[in-house]
This record gives sequence, C-alpha cells and structure tokens, in this order.
Amino acid sequence: MLLKSKTSITSLFILLIWFPSAAALSVKDQYQQYSEVKTALDELVLANHILYDQGALDGYGHISVRNPSNPQTFFIARSVAPSVVKLDDILEVDMGGKVLNDDKRTAYGERFIHSGILNANPTINSVIHGHAASTLPFGVTGTTLKPIYHMSAFLGEGAPIFEIRDFAKPSPDTDMFVSNPDLGAGLAKVMGNGNFVLMRGHGYAASAENIRKAVFRAIYAVQNASIQAEAMKMGKTQYLTLKEAEISKATIEKTINRPWELWSERVRNQK
Ligand SMILES: [Zn+2]
Repeated sequence: MLLKSKTSITSLFILLIWFPSAAALSVKDQYQQYSEVKTALDELVLANHILYDQGALDGYGHISVRNPSNPQTFFIARSVAPSVVKLDDILEVDMGGKVLNDDKRTAYGERFIHSGILNANPTINSVIHGHAASTLPFGVTGTTLKPIYHMSAFLGEGAPIFEIRDFAKPSPDTDMFVSNPDLGAGLAKVMGNGNFVLMRGHGYAASAENIRKAVFRAIYAVQNASIQAEAMKMGKTQYLTLKEAEISKATIEKTINRPWELWSERVRNQK
C-alpha cells in the first residue's frame, strides 16, 4: 500500500514536470512552447510599432493581448515607449493587474485599464490605451464622438466618456491615471459592450477580439476624431445612422488584414 502511494506521488511529480501549466512558465518559455503564444506576441510587438507610426500612440500608451494559453492572464510590454518594444520587454499580468513570473521590471502604471476591460468581457482579447490629441476635445466638452464614415462604424451611436471623478476613492481628485483595479473596473463598466471609450482629460481606450482589429479601431477612431472636428466647423454634420454603422461595420471589418499589411510593411521598412 505504502509502495503504491509512493508510486502515485512519484507519477504525479513526473506528470507535473512533463505538463507544467502555462502560468508556471516564463513568457519566453511560453513563446517557445505554444505556437499560438508565439503568434500573439509577435503581433503584439509589431502592433506597438504600428500604433506609434500611425499616431494612435506616442511616447506613452500601450496595447495588451490575452494569453491564448491561459485566458486569466495577458501580455503587455514593460514600461517603455511603444516604438521601441521588443519581445524581451513583454510581461505577463493577471486579471488583478499583478505582474507574474517573479518579473521585477517596471510595469505600466495603467495596466489596470487592460485587466479591467479583459476581465469584464471574455470576448475581448486585446486592449489599447493612448492619449491621441484629436480625441481629447471630445472627452472634455462632452461632444459625442460618432462615426463620421464607414471606417469607424464600430463607434455606433457614439463613444461613452469615462469620468474618473465618478469612480475615484477616497477623493475624486486624482492624477487622472487608471492606476488600480477599481478604476479599471469602472472604466470597463463605462465602455460596456462598445469597443471605444473616451477618458476625460486623459485619452481613450479601444478593444477588440484580436490585436489586428483593436489596432484598426484605435487608428480609425483617432482619424474619425480629427475629421469630425473639421466637419463640425463647416456646419451641421451627418453621421452614419445606427443601421448604416451596423451594416458598414460588418463589411469593413472583414477587410482589416489589408491595412494591417500596409502598416506592417511601413514599420518593417523603417528598420
Ligand atoms: Zn494614460
């Protein structure tokens, strides 16, 4: 009996060695062992460079992707500018915003934007946060950012605005950063089932079920903000109706690989 139980324990130990859980592996090991993680991380690095090149991010801002091997964690760069992100810079973070794998490098203070949105919506697998100047006037005036053309049809009936004062505790006066799980959850709540939210006096967050679509949405929402502001100066503006937005979103979002290839080629040629 004793021999049998010893054998079972030994077998279990061997099993654990042979089949370690994804969470127990470093980011580098997961990259090497899981092809879906390799694909996601290669795209994540490229997406950082594209978002900078296309003006959706600047020296600040970040993009995350849910871990394809473990939906309870996500990958995001350590605290560096998006344009210089490399594979070695990627951290793994849990849904509470805790950095895993005993990685002591400095993480983005606003990783809670990502944990909040990814945790609230299991269909979302990629989140982007940035401060693009064109989006700021909408967040501070309350003017609704609406789809001006088919490219940003996903804006639907308009982007909601996250007012940090409604969620900050104990005082509504903050440094404006979404720097804890409660603020991340508040932001996710305001975003709701939409995929874009303005952050008053700060910037925006975009989301999608994959990296390419999140990048597409961030870039075209930022462009929409510039075009809408110009159009509003000229007079009464006709936005896409809700039905037009719904139909054109379905059409245009089937084609997102086309601009992705263009944007990828541009940043590769810059190296
Ligand atoms: Zn920010």
